[in-house]
Amino acid sequence: AVIGKNEKEGEKTLRSPICCIMGHVDSGKTKLLDCIRSTTVQEGEAGGITQQISASYIPVEHIRERTKELKADAKLNVPGLLVIDTPGHEAFNNLRSRGSGLCDIAILVVDIMHGLKPQTIESINLLRMRKTEFIVALNKVDRLYGWKTCRNAPIGKAMKQQSKDVQHEFDHRVTQIITQFKEQGLNTELYNKNKERGETYSIVPTSAISGEGIPELLLLLIQWAQKTMVKKLTYNSEVQCTVLEVKVIQGCGTTIDVVLVNGVLHEGDEIVGPIHTTIRSLTPHLMKELGGGAYKEIKAAQVIKITAQNLEHAVAGTALYVVKPDDDVEEIKELVMDDMRNVMSRIDKSGEGVYAHASTLGSLEALLKLLKTPPVSIPVCGIGIGPVHKKDVMKASVMREKKKEFATILAFDVKVAPEAQEFADNLGVKIFIADTIYHFLDQFKAYVDNLKEATQQEAAEDAVFPCVLEIMPNCVFNKNDPIILGVDVKEGILKIGTPICIPQKNFIDIGRVSSIKKNDRPVDHADKGQKVAIKVWDLHLVAVYCNIFEITGSNAEEQQKRFGRHFDMEDELVSHISRRSIDALKAHYREELSIEEWKLVKQLKE
Ligand code: GDP
Repeated sequence: AVIGKNEKEGEKTLRSPICCIMGHVDSGKTKLLDCIRSTTVQEGEAGGITQQISASYIPVEHIRERTKELKADAKLNVPGLLVIDTPGHEAFNNLRSRGSGLCDIAILVVDIMHGLKPQTIESINLLRMRKTEFIVALNKVDRLYGWKTCRNAPIGKAMKQQSKDVQHEFDHRVTQIITQFKEQGLNTELYNKNKERGETYSIVPTSAISGEGIPELLLLLIQWAQKTMVKKLTYNSEVQCTVLEVKVIQGCGTTIDVVLVNGVLHEGDEIVGPIHTTIRSLTPHLMKELGGGAYKEIKAAQVIKITAQNLEHAVAGTALYVVKPDDDVEEIKELVMDDMRNVMSRIDKSGEGVYAHASTLGSLEALLKLLKTPPVSIPVCGIGIGPVHKKDVMKASVMREKKKEFATILAFDVKVAPEAQEFADNLGVKIFIADTIYHFLDQFKAYVDNLKEATQQEAAEDAVFPCVLEIMPNCVFNKNDPIILGVDVKEGILKIGTPICIPQKNFIDIGRVSSIKKNDRPVDHADKGQKVAIKVWDLHLVAVYCNIFEITGSNAEEQQKRFGRHFDMEDELVSHISRRSIDALKAHYREELSIEEWKLVKQLKE
């Protein structure tokens, strides 16, 4: 059997348009899809629409039936309409076909009671970006106060049944929403008043609950697609096909769901994606009257389940090519790789960065793009498609040695296996899970900031800021245990915790600065030119006194270096800089030091 074989003469040339439903959460996308899918005839009979895994195919006969009151029958010459089931952005992002969007046309759902919302505006921007035509379904008209239900009626007819009050409220809301669209730079008009289609987008009032307006919506979708996309919709023998989902099915092994946008797929076709295999069976999950089994061939546009060997390595979002007798398989593989490379090219060559996981190549591409859109700049060093597994955590954990904040997996719209999460917790790999890309940015930024603060604290011990201090006359308050002095900061920056040594006396260490007071007030640092009092303890000895370290031999006798004995008025006090302290300083405080201060670090090291 051939799906679509019941086309009449003259209809052979057009394939079914592919339609996707967008809009704000709760505007009624899912309900609208249900309503479009449901048959006007008794449930389960005729109509022939069966929900598939990822799309619903609505045969033209069904559309004729739903629109018969509009008497537009003769004008329909596509075999049907393929509506993508996953509503929202994901579908739109995921579904790409050779670099462009996969949907031919979209329904933008707006709740008549609420008007344009943030996701409506995001949808508008996506549609514009992909230059996708759309029709506005102004949904939930049945919620207008006093609405008289006219089940599944054309909206034109239903409106006539309404009271003056309802019509008045309707007009008022429509005017407001048209204004809101205008604020987004879009001209919109009620479908029956729209004289400039193409320039002005049509609005069809609908109810996804009682079905009013669905006839006009369907008719307009088909007519508009037929009228403006003849070239795109013209049936072509060249196969255009995109992998939607890779699934493991008990008893079938790995199968793939594909959208066949154009052309015909046959049993036994040799297919090339990142995989290379031969189609064992083709199943469209639709059309009960045609039976649920496999088909020898299936014509576009359709969503199809394919079984074959070696499908494990198929990648959702990539194109699938069919090898024809005189094709060069290697050349086709090259084409496939181009697609992959496009996405891969966004990965950082430095080898440092986070891991990005997404459900399909398309959504991964969108994620990578966003991570690189100024002011955001999050480097990505590895990617994955599909759920996050232990092995992915393993890969990301390597980054811990290089940059802790990059030991991170951004899991966009994918599941994380429980054992992978546990593994990540153990290894100190952070997994962020989000279903909108924008959530990642906030999460990741907060995480990096926190981490930076924590590691700076850890590193504070090791990092030594450079300073040169001069002891002020008559300001020696205590000679040792602890040393308390008034000092003038001649160079650099004095911070609490800085180890101090005396260069003139063979760099002997006198201890660490434990407090700084300026005008009798404690401060945590003092800048060049400031005069402050400092307290210096020899921390090692403090530890010994406190019995933290074992007292052995001569150590027991040791005392802190003493003013007047080990060093004197004329001696300069400077930070004790070591190779290790410079590394810590560079790693955590690079931007906090001026060029001059970096010079001082070098000078003090020498
Ligand atoms: P989605 O988030 O855009 O997919 O919205 P849903 O389809 O889940 O609908 C959100 C809610 O609005 C549900 O409670 C629906 O029953 C309700 N709803 C959707 N369409 C209509 C409509 O046309 N009329 C009314 N009264 N309620 C609707």
